[in-house]
Amino acid sequence: MAERQQRWLSQPRKKEQFITAKRKQWRDNCLGSVKKRRALEKAYSRQLVVGRRAVEIGTIAQHLRCLKCDLPIFLENIEKETRIGLASEFHVRCKNCNNIVQVPTSKTTTKSTKNYPVYDVNLKTALG
Ligand SMILES: [Zn+2]
Repeated sequence: MAERQQRWLSQPRKKEQFITAKRKQWRDNCLGSVKKRRALEKAYSRQLVVGRRAVEIGTIAQHLRCLKCDLPIFLENIEKETRIGLASEFHVRCKNCNNIVQVPTSKTTTKSTKNYPVYDVNLKTALG
């Protein structure tokens, strides 16, 4: 009798209803994967810039300094990204003075007849 009662107590349940062990395992797996997916989505939503870029390290390094207070700024403080073909322009906030600095990922040329900059990476890609 005690053995039967023990087995009855160890039977998996959901909201006081009996379910099979296989069903409980499936349910736990589903809940686990939903938790993992939500954690990943949360992590990605905090990042504004996701993916790969073709960058010129020298150009980025040259612009990673606040124009107002002359302190270094960090790419982790990117507020906005403007994509122009293969080039990008990051709008990075200085944590010291809240100034927004525009950091291009490629050099620009002034060969444009219009008033906007032409990025080298786009020009070289188009010319081959
Ligand atoms: Zn600053």
